[in-house]
Amino acid sequence: MTPPPSVTVSAKGAARWKQGHPWIYRSDVDAGRMPPGIVRVTDARGRFLGQALWSPTSEIRLRLLTTAEPPVDATWWTAMLMAANQRRSARTGAGAAYRVVHGEADGLPSLIVDRYGDYAVAQLLSAGLEAQRDHIVHAIRATLDPKGILLRNDASVRRHEGLAIEVVDALGSVPESVEVIEGPVRYLAAPRTGQKTGAFLDQRDNREMMGALSHGRALDLFTYNGLFALHLARTADAVVAVDSSAPALDIARRNADLNRVTNIEWREANVFDLLRELERSGQRFDTVVLDPPAFAKRKDAVERAVAGYKEINLRAMRVLAPGGVLFTASCSFHVGRAVFFDMLADAAADSGRRMALERMVGPSADHPELLAVPETGYLKGAVLRAVDP
Ligand code: SAH
Repeated sequence: MTPPPSVTVSAKGAARWKQGHPWIYRSDVDAGRMPPGIVRVTDARGRFLGQALWSPTSEIRLRLLTTAEPPVDATWWTAMLMAANQRRSARTGAGAAYRVVHGEADGLPSLIVDRYGDYAVAQLLSAGLEAQRDHIVHAIRATLDPKGILLRNDASVRRHEGLAIEVVDALGSVPESVEVIEGPVRYLAAPRTGQKTGAFLDQRDNREMMGALSHGRALDLFTYNGLFALHLARTADAVVAVDSSAPALDIARRNADLNRVTNIEWREANVFDLLRELERSGQRFDTVVLDPPAFAKRKDAVERAVAGYKEINLRAMRVLAPGGVLFTASCSFHVGRAVFFDMLADAAADSGRRMALERMVGPSADHPELLAVPETGYLKGAVLRAVDP
């Protein structure tokens, strides 16, 4: 194997790696014209710093893989994937659905690997990583022995890397829907067409938590394929589950059938409108789940997003019955934890309710946040309870 080409980085670039962040930007890199792939990185004095993924057209030019000298080959990728899967050993087992690799947080920048039962779905989100595709597919096979591997390479960030937007089978053929198990619930993941890689795996632990906390009349807002609702239905008397997407609700109904659950009413509606209507008509719920999509996709959208979050949270608090419990979340990376909890405090102050913060939560532990890499974290949530006298 020919050794990888070399690139030099500035002192500022080198300092980022020292602090544990794997990205080095364009302005801190001195390199010739090279195709994407693995490069050897040195500082201005020629000292070896590590091996990294090279993306020639991206603002993020380098993503650190290792500070060691041995070649980054199929054996290296396999060892890294096996270690990541090992860290999740509590979640494995037949029919399990979980994140195997959470990118930077697992030391594998720009790589996502999710498992849905017998199938794996991966996202290769940088040009350097795409050049390692064969090794990665090999490593997924060696680690999970799946019946099929799908590359959900249709995430828009691939455009910044000059990569094609595509969905391709890399092994076997992955079906439209895959039945998986989530604690006491079964559901159909949609790896080819669903959001993310086929389901919102990041909320799994929170769904199970709410399955344990829910009671009475329950409301699941932004239900998508109905997963929170399925967990609530086990402990609540009746559930109203709401989404604006008819196709998402079709799958939700199939999921209810799969679980032989009959106490969920599916409603196609805009949550903003519906909450206003519920508040006005005096309907009250003992359990409410509020899991909206990312309102702030960009930094300059934060202010509007926070106003949106505040509105739905305030109204959700108002429709809570006395002693009712509200699970609320935000998956906007640009709305940080502090801003989220300030927004909740504002909403509580304006709601006319006395709201207690019972629990602060994050994503399931298979989506860890690396403390030195804020970009690996995005999901924050809370369990609140109405404790008016
Ligand atoms: N709670 C889900 C994930 C929700 S994803 C789970 O645990 O799997 C966000 C959902 O919000 C999507 O299904 C989308 O169709 C829906 N949505 C977005 N805007 C909406 C709106 N204004 N009213 C109702 N649903 C909306």
